Amino acid sequence: MSKKKGVILSLSIILVVSALYYLGTNETPNQNSQTGKLAFEDTGDFKVVYGKTKNPKYTEYNELLKKAHIFENFTVFLNNVLILKQDFPIIIQQCDTANAFYSLKDKHIVICDELLESLFQNFSYIVSPGEELNNAVSGATFFIMYHELGHGLIDIYNLPYSGKEEDVADQLASVVLTGMGEDGPKVAITGANYFYITSPQVGEESPFWDEHSLNKQRYYNILCWVYGSNPQKFNYFVGTYGLPEERAARCEYEYKKMFEFWNTALTPYVKAQIKPETNK
Ligand SMILES: [Zn+2]
Repeated sequence: MSKKKGVILSLSIILVVSALYYLGTNETPNQNSQTGKLAFEDTGDFKVVYGKTKNPKYTEYNELLKKAHIFENFTVFLNNVLILKQDFPIIIQQCDTANAFYSLKDKHIVICDELLESLFQNFSYIVSPGEELNNAVSGATFFIMYHELGHGLIDIYNLPYSGKEEDVADQLASVVLTGMGEDGPKVAITGANYFYITSPQVGEESPFWDEHSLNKQRYYNILCWVYGSNPQKFNYFVGTYGLPEERAARCEYEYKKMFEFWNTALTPYVKAQIKPETNK
């Protein structure tokens, strides 16, 4: 229980600095709403829904999340930035599998209690208990939430893209997080670490058929994009134990093209009411 409380507190800290503010803001702040360039009237909201749980452990967990306003703060932030035609629920519930997903049919995101538990278990093998573990779990949770948001925005705004949608969703998460001051890139890298530690072990088959890139590819992609967002600042990513030189050479360009894509794609849907803020 005390461990879970720790996770929740860490999550709230990260949420405070959460930001989409610099996407779709290549014009001056508020200009979209002032000049009526928004794609449609804002008639919907992101909303948090706590689904039913059969497991008392998850019920208790959800109560703690609720009290800490973790997901509620996330939706308040998104509502200040993005326009919606209809409500967009973010549902936290027991799923009987460790997963998070965006439903094309129901137009909502589901974050499974089992996933949060699984993050805790997986990270506990590689980081110390306490604050380090809490930060790892909360960071990976945020990366996953932004990834699912990427799927959702592609659907509700009918955004065109090419390639694997799973990669494009990872790109949104990476682009947004790298714009979040000092903490954002760390959160993205924590998401990357989760993919690394959950990649198949020796003797296990990689899921080559899957719509996702292989977990280790996702790890190196995120590493590359964070590095590419500021090669000088993150030059220590490159080397023997990190990003190979041959990939690193293209990362700044990759990041630039990704940023341009999301910036252009989201401009008609961003109210741009939030200005960049420094991390606290
Ligand atoms: Zn996905």
